[in-house]
Amino acid sequence: MAKERVYLFDTTLRDGAQTNGVDFTLADKLAIAGMLDELGIDYVEGGYPGANPTDTELFGSDHKLKATFTAFGMTRRPGRSASNDPGLAALLAAKADAICFVAKSWDYHVRVALETTLEENIASIRDSVRAAKASGREVLLDCEHFFDGYKTNPQYALACAKAAYDEGARWVVLCDTNGGTLPNEVETIVGEVVKTIPGDHVGIHAHNDTEQAVANSFAAVRAGARQIQGTLNGLGERCGNANLVSIIPTLKLKAEFADRFDTSISDAALQKLAHVSYALDERLNRAPNRHAPYVGASAFATKAGIHASAIAKDPATYEHVLPETVGNRRKVLVSEQAGKSNVLAELERIGIKVDKDDPRISSLLDLVKERETIGYAYEAANASFELLARRTLGKVPNYFDVEQFDVNVEQRYNALAQRVTVAMAVVKVKIDGETLISAAEGNGPVNALDQALRKDLGKYQDYIKGLKLTDYRVRILNAGTEAVTRVLIESEDEAGDSWTTVGVSPNIIDASFQALMDSIIFKLVKSGAPA
Ligand SMILES: [Zn+2]
Repeated sequence: MAKERVYLFDTTLRDGAQTNGVDFTLADKLAIAGMLDELGIDYVEGGYPGANPTDTELFGSDHKLKATFTAFGMTRRPGRSASNDPGLAALLAAKADAICFVAKSWDYHVRVALETTLEENIASIRDSVRAAKASGREVLLDCEHFFDGYKTNPQYALACAKAAYDEGARWVVLCDTNGGTLPNEVETIVGEVVKTIPGDHVGIHAHNDTEQAVANSFAAVRAGARQIQGTLNGLGERCGNANLVSIIPTLKLKAEFADRFDTSISDAALQKLAHVSYALDERLNRAPNRHAPYVGASAFATKAGIHASAIAKDPATYEHVLPETVGNRRKVLVSEQAGKSNVLAELERIGIKVDKDDPRISSLLDLVKERETIGYAYEAANASFELLARRTLGKVPNYFDVEQFDVNVEQRYNALAQRVTVAMAVVKVKIDGETLISAAEGNGPVNALDQALRKDLGKYQDYIKGLKLTDYRVRILNAGTEAVTRVLIESEDEAGDSWTTVGVSPNIIDASFQALMDSIIFKLVKSGAPA
């Protein structure tokens, strides 16, 4: 029997942007959309054009995504015509493949919050869906407060959904906006809805206020819904949205769903899931949740003991799925063997061939453990790990020595009598016995140091010409007087390749210097610069 299709709709960039403390830049949005597209998500909702400058800019240009790029916005305002509503006009002008409208479906909200009649709200849904269809877009309708509305006035909630479906909306999405609905209620209500609207046109948008957004999403699918909306790592307002990072592997790996449904996520893409989850947290400068299902660092970690010895005999004894299927790793804590296999797998991935019994592997493992204890994060800093590995295995030339550097920050009045802060750095580098001294100003001490360091590297200058820093992130690791600073630097070169390096020190300049040096040396190794 042919499998049915369940569609995945990601709203990390729209609903996820409501997360307390999250503020996406345009670059963040583009990078995250790219990750989602690589993963193979069906729909990527980019934001709310017209609502803020970032989203307006995002929807101002074309994006070459395989996913259906979706703009979000409101249906026409009550009392206005569809052709005379600036909000709707902005939405129709957005460069997007699909438009997802949000409309009220709870009669109480229509009267109290929208201050209009129940009929006018339905007319607004009809007109807006019609206008978006006429513009050639695929149309979705998010029915806000659908479940709460359904409980008090099922006829009206359903009439809102039906109006959109009748006008040709591809999807009618039932939203548990306040997040308080329980799985059995979701299953019952969705079961009723699909008697009127075919399930392959019904979506679920669950919030996590009782920590059951994932369970509610599956309850809806059981009852017949065929689109799940959610966010990466469950980002979202209050307690978050349904977490796609948990939903995707459950759909793909658990027989109840895997036997019945196809998704757009390939097995190969599933293996990138842990990385995508981690990369999102790094981009947001949030500490990843070690205990996140499937993808957390501890999701397949077992302390040495009876569990560990059973896992060594057969992993299935204490694991519900194989960690590799989601790109995670089995970790048996305090076990030399497990750590060694992690390192060997990593070396193979970056193309370093080494015998598995080579004693230098143990030295590298010790070094990684020792350095991670003091704050280095090699999982995030792929280039620093590669350099550490190559150095331990004796394969990195000593291109140059930084003999000395000096960074100076000065606050003073400029000619316009404004207080300005100016940073200047001087770097003394020795290459082939020759000393080169460079000085540079920057908008801050790290910027000045970076400029000076890369100003004159003699015969290596050509190799680093195309190198640029694309991101700089700082985290203070442990509070109090013991605090150390971890700096992660993301770099890019002319080939479009990017890599991340790490530095750790009680001194932020020193930590930055380490990460900058690693980035330059990694680029020289990558380019095959001669020693
Ligand atoms: Zn929402």
